[in-house]
Amino acid sequence: MMLYNLKDPQEQVSFTQAVRQGLGREQGLFFPSSLPHFEDIDTLLDMPFNQRSSEIISAVIGDEFSKEQVDALVEQAFQFQAPLAKVTDTISALELFHGPTLAFKDFGGRFMAQCLAAIRDDEKITILTATSGDTGAAVAHAFYGLENINVVILYPKGKISSLQEKLFCTLGGNIHTLAVDGTFDDCQALVKQSFDDLELISKFGLNSANSINISRLLAQTCYYFEAVAQLPKAQRQQAVISVPSGNFGNLTAGLLAKAMGLPVKRFIAATNENDTVPRYLESGQWSPNVTVPTLSNAMDVSQPNNWPRVEELIKGQNWSLADIGHGRLTDEDVKQSLTRLWEKDYLCEPHGAIAYQVLTEQLQEEEIGIFLCTAHPAKFKDSVDDILEMDIPLPAPLAKHAELPLLSHDISANHAELVDKMQHLLEI
Ligand SMILES: *Cc1c(COP(=O)(O)O)cnc(C)c1O
Repeated sequence: MMLYNLKDPQEQVSFTQAVRQGLGREQGLFFPSSLPHFEDIDTLLDMPFNQRSSEIISAVIGDEFSKEQVDALVEQAFQFQAPLAKVTDTISALELFHGPTLAFKDFGGRFMAQCLAAIRDDEKITILTATSGDTGAAVAHAFYGLENINVVILYPKGKISSLQEKLFCTLGGNIHTLAVDGTFDDCQALVKQSFDDLELISKFGLNSANSINISRLLAQTCYYFEAVAQLPKAQRQQAVISVPSGNFGNLTAGLLAKAMGLPVKRFIAATNENDTVPRYLESGQWSPNVTVPTLSNAMDVSQPNNWPRVEELIKGQNWSLADIGHGRLTDEDVKQSLTRLWEKDYLCEPHGAIAYQVLTEQLQEEEIGIFLCTAHPAKFKDSVDDILEMDIPLPAPLAKHAELPLLSHDISANHAELVDKMQHLLEI
């Protein structure tokens, strides 16, 4: 598959290059020049998840990877299910939180890690990233144990939950975690400073493996197929999918799946009060506000970095922005939505609860609704326990890590100290 840079369409790269580079010139996003279209969709949907995912991914990148290679990537990356759980007669939850870090980011993160491992030459790679909690865990687990790839994760000491810290700072091996005496912004600044230093990049083989990487979106298309595959055949043309959105990578993947022939009647973009996109869809004005903190903190984004991909796809497919449903919830609404779901015996967390509520308000007669549950309720234990007055037990992966000792090293928010520490830890 060839891709072009949305900011500079002259820049064209292969999928392999796009995975390596992440972003193009001028920080432009890569976008596929063409997409496969599946005609016999029922046959595809009848396949088991991994076999189908491999077919889909092969149809996209088969010019660069053999079918056997893609089978292996999928096998390594997707070792967990994406079940559809019935909540009402017409609405189901697509549970994307059964991976090792209990969030949907495991799908994209693990596939990206496998791609990078498969395409690297003999050189060493160092993944350098800053986290305010969740992405660090997904990256750490995705790359854990991969040969010749080291991971260095910076996080603000004392400013992430102890459970989050345990989830990625207890792995050891090729995963190195640094507790920075500073804020998340300080951590990001240290990472950015490193990527501004060409000498450092080549010395360590630095790679950001960030959320904009096209390999993540490709992996994420697969669970949209899996969602529709679990519906009875007669309902497949009526599916409406509600996506809790922050950077809009998840929605982009859904739209890509539809462009490849997946029957989805329409999508709904659901946000919290950081509602740049819903306001844009209403008024045509792109006017990001200052980001506000909410209960659904993985969606506290006011400048969603995947949005240009959504626009490009809609233009290319001759769809209309008006076809994307949208809505936003305040934290107060989120609490009510969580409570309503619990009354229906479905335990959810703030992100999924937003997608559910917007869906129920917009679902029309004859339509079948699916909302994406992007994280396990235990991942947001503090707020869920508080709102529903309960004590959610920790699922096995979290409980296991909670027992292990932290392996982080402390550093101050100083670039020279970071470089020194990396040299020492990675023996470079
Ligand atoms: C990252 C994340 C989101 C937002 O997904 P985008 O692809 O950035 O729109 C939603 N929910 C959870 C739990 C997340 O971690």
